[in-house]
Amino acid sequence: MRINAGRAARWPSRVIAGIAAFGLLFGAVGMTGAISASATRVYNNLNGIEKKRQLPAGFVYADDVIPKAQYDIRYYTDYNFVGARIDGYEAPLAIMTKEAAGALKLVSADLAKKGYMLKIYDAYRPSKAVAHFIRWAKDTDDTKMQAVFYPDVAKSDLFNGYLAKRSGHSRGSTVDLTLVNTYAGREVDMGSPFDMLGPISAHGSKLVTAAQRANRAMLKAAMARRGFAAYNKEWWHYTLAKEPFPKRYFDFDVQ
Ligand SMILES: [Zn+2]
Repeated sequence: MRINAGRAARWPSRVIAGIAAFGLLFGAVGMTGAISASATRVYNNLNGIEKKRQLPAGFVYADDVIPKAQYDIRYYTDYNFVGARIDGYEAPLAIMTKEAAGALKLVSADLAKKGYMLKIYDAYRPSKAVAHFIRWAKDTDDTKMQAVFYPDVAKSDLFNGYLAKRSGHSRGSTVDLTLVNTYAGREVDMGSPFDMLGPISAHGSKLVTAAQRANRAMLKAAMARRGFAAYNKEWWHYTLAKEPFPKRYFDFDVQ
C-alpha cells in the first residue's frame, strides 16, 4: 500500500469529488450498468504517497514545486475512459519537467490571489501508457466507459483529435488540469468533465453556457500568461510553449 491514509485528503474535496463522480455515474448507469468509480481519489497534497525519486535529469514531482494544488491522477485509477489503471502509472503522482512545474507554480500563485487553486489530472505520461490507449482504442467492442467519457463520439473516431500514437504528455511539459474555487471547495464549472472526449469539450463550444465558456477562458488566460499553449479540442490540456524536450518521448514509470 503506497497511501498513508492518515495524511491523505480529507473532506470537503474528497466528498465533493465523490458526489461529482456519483452524479456522472447516475446518469450513465442506465446505459451501461457496470461503471465503477471506486478507485478515484482527490488529494489535497501528495505528502503521504511514496515516491521512488529516481526521475531522469530535468524532471520533478509537481507537488514538490506546487504543494497548494489538488491532485486527482485518473490514469492511476480505473475511473478513466479505458476503465482500468493505465500502464506505467505505479502511483497517483504528477511528474513534470522542471521548467513546466516552475511555470505552473507561477500560474498557481496568480490564481491563488483570485481565490482559485489548480487541480491536476495528469502531467508526464509514459509512452507505454499511450500504447495502452491505442491498444484499447483498437478493441471497438470494449465500450464500458462510453456513457461517461465519450457519449457523443464513436469509439472508432477517437483517433480523430483525441488519441494519437504519441502524446505531448510523454515530453513532460504538458498538463491536464482544472480550477477549484478555494473558498467553496469545489471545482469550477467548465461545462464538461475532464476527459469527456467530444465537441462539448472544445474551447468556445456552444454546447456549454456562456458562463462555462468564460470559466474555460479564465483558465486559458492564466495558463497563457505563464507560457502555456492551449489545445482547442480539450479545455483541460496545456503545453509549455518553450518546452525543454520538444522532440523526446520518455517512457519511465510514474512512481
Ligand atoms: Zn492532456
